[in-house]
Amino acid sequence: MVEIANQIYQNGLTPGKSGNISTKIRCNGNYQVLISSTGVSLKNISLEDVIVIDDKGNQVEGHGKPSSEVNMHLEIYKKRREVSGIVHTHSPYATGFSFSGEKIPHLEGFGKIKKYYLNEVDYATPGSMELAKIASNGLENEDMLILKNHGVLAIGTDLNEAALLAEFVENSAKTSFITLILIREPIPAHLKHSR
Ligand SMILES: [Zn+2]
Repeated sequence: MVEIANQIYQNGLTPGKSGNISTKIRCNGNYQVLISSTGVSLKNISLEDVIVIDDKGNQVEGHGKPSSEVNMHLEIYKKRREVSGIVHTHSPYATGFSFSGEKIPHLEGFGKIKKYYLNEVDYATPGSMELAKIASNGLENEDMLILKNHGVLAIGTDLNEAALLAEFVENSAKTSFITLILIREPIPAHLKHSR
């Protein structure tokens, strides 16, 4: 988990102290959720910054507090039983789209999902139970989600899958951004190569 957190940071998906990740593990017939703690950058997170929460939402291990988005993670695990990894980022391109009226088109690599745009849900205050509900409902039939005016959620059967998907969402947003610029801003005639 620490290694994947570092990788997500290195890939520029969670600048500063933004973003949070979690993974679900089986434990005596129930499950526990390991989540990054609040106020720690994924750049230099260590095992001590990982908080363990039981399936009833109680903190059972770890110093400090879990990420402020802990309820969002827990609600998603309740809704999607097969999911064992969640990555939440404020990655710049995808988040930029979330603040604009533009949507991110589905590009290659999204498997069976056929919708034209990445799914987006309405804004709710970060850290609120309202956001936890909106996000978990939005992921009922999707593996990725744009949170309006906020950021990105990606889920997977393990944390690595979720991290790769978050990276792919950001890359799609970046490609879409470049495409939009190229379409809207034709190269001025005087700058084109003369033949
Ligand atoms: Zn956030």
